[in-house]
Amino acid sequence: MIYAPSTIKLSVLFFLLSFTINAQDWCASRTTNPSPWVELTATPVTAITIPVVVHNVYYDDAQRLTETQIQSQIAVLNEDFRSANADLDQVINWYQNKIADMEINFVLADQDPLGNPHSGIIFSPTSIDGIGNDFTNGRRNLCYDDLGGSSAWCTDCYLNIWVADLDFSGVAGIGIFPTEIASGEVPRAEDGVYIQYDRFGRGGTATAPYDLGRTCTHEIGHYLNLLHLWGNVTPPSNCNPGTCCPDPVYDDLVADTEKQVWTYAGLCPSGFQDSCPGNGGPDNYQNFMGFVEDACAVMFTQGQKDRVWNALQTYRPGLLNPDCIEQCVVGTKTPQQVNNLFKLIYSLHGELMLEALTPDLDWGLYNVLGQEVASWRSELAGGFTQWVPIAVEGMHFLVAQKDGARQVRKVLL
Ligand SMILES: [Zn+2]
Repeated sequence: MIYAPSTIKLSVLFFLLSFTINAQDWCASRTTNPSPWVELTATPVTAITIPVVVHNVYYDDAQRLTETQIQSQIAVLNEDFRSANADLDQVINWYQNKIADMEINFVLADQDPLGNPHSGIIFSPTSIDGIGNDFTNGRRNLCYDDLGGSSAWCTDCYLNIWVADLDFSGVAGIGIFPTEIASGEVPRAEDGVYIQYDRFGRGGTATAPYDLGRTCTHEIGHYLNLLHLWGNVTPPSNCNPGTCCPDPVYDDLVADTEKQVWTYAGLCPSGFQDSCPGNGGPDNYQNFMGFVEDACAVMFTQGQKDRVWNALQTYRPGLLNPDCIEQCVVGTKTPQQVNNLFKLIYSLHGELMLEALTPDLDWGLYNVLGQEVASWRSELAGGFTQWVPIAVEGMHFLVAQKDGARQVRKVLL
């Protein structure tokens, strides 16, 4: 489910032939430093709902999806992450009592960070062929308006999903690990998941046998800190179980998925399969975090749920915070929100007319990614005009702070 053809029109035969060659590339997600084994049980109090923004960055008509196609993917996520998928009944006996309801719902955002009504879907034409694998000064063009892609909405608060031509041999999807954001390996503006356009949604324009939306389920698993069943490094196809099974590198750091060093890439096994005999139990090849065909990946485990909820609390607390979008200014969150520090009189084209209601204010202006665009200080109370050098007109966040109190206001510039 995790590899994509490098050209659009490929036969099923080619799928079958190619996976043995490129199996290691089917999912390009990686974390060089996975967070450790999770022993704690972080059972959620109640299910959360994550607002989703889909950026469909298309080069030609084949890459432009319909809203129906996009909505079908959201439906798949709500089945898979709530153990409500109809194909759960195929889970083999060993894993039936390990199936987890992840207690995570997904909904297309119904408003943008400014509070305006929005469909949660951004259709963004691009002139860059294969934009998903294009970079400018280390930045992935796909994730930036000014590089031909589509800029993320506040990545603390929204799950940003880019659907485009990833143009990366054999890759169907990439999910950014929360540890990659925490370590700075990946810029915050690129946080989210990227899905090959013909692997997105159920039916419709998606290409069989990867037409049930499981690529996105898998990549969001990475986004929530899940590793592949065999761990961070894909075992070689000729891996000798006697050598590979004891090797600690081949492990997903989840206790209830048994040791597995076969990827079953592009296959759809059935029954009892065990790549590491004598290591506890059979392979959980039916897990979403493997490489089997869409129809054969059907479950998460309780152990994975614990790992995901620990990751939410540790790395992605914004997704647990219902007020996140209101406070969506990265790096300036303080506990005390006030509304008596300033008044905004007027804002347009980089000009701000402001009234400071108190002396000695520290000001900051941030774009929707939470990046500081400008900062200044006002010493006196009263009205003044501030010019700011904005790169892109549109929504920004104006912040004034004094003595630990903070006022935030969305402004259009
Ligand atoms: Zn993967």
